[in-house]
Amino acid sequence: LGRKLNAALSSLNRSAVVDEKVLDATLKEITAALLESDVNVKLVQSLRQKVKAKVKASFDGTDKSKDLNRKNVLQKAVFDELVALVDPGVEPYKPKKGICNVLMAVGLQGNGKTTTCTKLAVHYQKRGFRCAIVCADTFRAGAFDQTRQSATKAKVAYYGSYTETDPVAIAAQGVAKFKKERFDVIIVDTSGRHKQESELFEEMVQIGDAVHPNMTILILDASIGQAAEAQSHAFKESANFGAIIVTKMDGHAKGGGAISAVAATKTPIIFLGVGEHLQDLDRFSPQPFISKLLGLGDIQGLMEHMQDLATQNPDRQKDMVKKLEEGKLSIRDWREQIQNVMNMGPISKIASMIPGLPADLLSGSDDDGSQRMKRMLFITDSMTAAELDSDGSPFMTIAKDGKPTGLTWKVVRVAKGSGTSVREVEELLCQYRMMANMAKQAGGKNGWLSSMQKMQ
Ligand code: GDP
Ligand code: MG
Repeated sequence: LGRKLNAALSSLNRSAVVDEKVLDATLKEITAALLESDVNVKLVQSLRQKVKAKVKASFDGTDKSKDLNRKNVLQKAVFDELVALVDPGVEPYKPKKGICNVLMAVGLQGNGKTTTCTKLAVHYQKRGFRCAIVCADTFRAGAFDQTRQSATKAKVAYYGSYTETDPVAIAAQGVAKFKKERFDVIIVDTSGRHKQESELFEEMVQIGDAVHPNMTILILDASIGQAAEAQSHAFKESANFGAIIVTKMDGHAKGGGAISAVAATKTPIIFLGVGEHLQDLDRFSPQPFISKLLGLGDIQGLMEHMQDLATQNPDRQKDMVKKLEEGKLSIRDWREQIQNVMNMGPISKIASMIPGLPADLLSGSDDDGSQRMKRMLFITDSMTAAELDSDGSPFMTIAKDGKPTGLTWKVVRVAKGSGTSVREVEELLCQYRMMANMAKQAGGKNGWLSSMQKMQ
C-alpha cells in the first residue's frame, strides 16, 4: 500500500501543474491503492470526496503561481484524511503505576491473542510494571501449555489450569491471585472460537463481568480484509473493547481491513504486531504510521531509536534530539543519522524511519540498501565543513522571495569529488530538504512530536 501511495504522490511531484485532470488522476491512483489493500469501500469514497473538496477550494482560476501551493494542499489533504482514517480521536487507556491494571484480550482464534499477551507483558515489564498473564482459554487444547512456555521465556508470571474447564472461574481466580500479590498489569487471555459464535460472545461478557478489565483489547489479524467491519461490530457489542492491536503486519497482508475496523468502532489502534518474536510489537500512533506509509519517514520511531543510541553517546544524541525538535537539522546531522543506521541494521527496517530516504532503498535487498547509503555518504564526504553544517542553501540559487530556483556549481564539484553524478547529488539534496521540512513540521510547540511526547 505504502509503495503505491508513494508512487501516486511522486508522480504528482513530477507534474508541473495541478489542474483538475491531475487532481482526478492522483485521486484515482490513491483510491485504487486503498481499495486494493481492503480499506472499506465507503471510507475510501468519503476520503476521496473530502480531499477533492479541500483541493477544489484552493482552485482560483488561471493563476499558475498557485500551483506549487495547490500541490501542498493536495498532499496535506491526503495525509490528513488518511490520518483521520486511523485516528478515531479517542484516547486509549494507559496502565498506571500504583494500581492493579487489568487488561483483557479478545478476538478470533489464530489472530494472535496469546502471542500478543506475552508481547504486551514484555513491553510493560520493560517500563517498570510487574506483569502477569492469566490463561482463560479452556477451549483450545494446549492453550495453557502455550501460555506457560511463552510466559516462562519472557520471565512473566502466569496462571492457568489443566483441570478446570470453566474459563470464567479461571479468569476470576487468576486475577484475584495476582491482585493479592500486587501485580501492576494483569493480562487475561481468552479463547477465540466456539461451536457457536453466540457462545463465544456470551463467554466474553461473563469473563468481563468477573474480572472488570480496565481495558479490553481486540486482537485483529492484518489479513482480515472486508470482514473487519462485521467482526469488530460483533465483538464491540459483547466485549466493548477500548483498543485494537493489529497483528501480523510483517506479513504480506494488506492491512486495510483492520484499519477500517478503527473507523467502524471508533476505537484506537494501540500497537502493531510485526513478527513472531516477543519484541515484535510496535507502538501505534496515527500520524507517524501514515507518514511512514507515504514514505515520509517516522520521526517518532527515529526518536525512539535515537534515545536507545543515547546510551552509547549521551551528549551528542541529546543535542540531536533537541535539533530535531527545533527542526534545525543540518546535512551533517542527517549524515550522522545515516551512518548510525548503517551500524544498526537490518537496513530496510530502520531506513524506513528516516524521512527523505528514497522508497527503492527500502524495497531492494539490504545489500542494495547499504550500497545506496554508502554513495550518499561519499557525496556528503565531498562537501566542505560549512556546506555540511548548512541547511543545503549553499547549493541553491535563491530568488528574492526566498524560494530556491536552481543549483549552484558547487553541486558539480561535489559530484566530481565523490565520483557520483550531478543527478545523484541533486537527489540527495532533495531528500535532505524533504527530511528537513518533515522535521520542521514534526517539531515545535504544536508539532506532532510534542503532542506525541505528551501522550506517552
Ligand atoms: P490466538 O489463537 O489468538 O491465541 O493466536 P496465537 O497467539 O496462538 O497466534 C497464532 C499464530 O500467529 C502463531 O503462529 C503466532 O506465532 C502467529 N503470530 C501472532 N502474532 C504475529 C505477528 O505479529 N506476526 C507474525 N508473523 N506472526 C504472528
Ligand atoms: Mg490463544
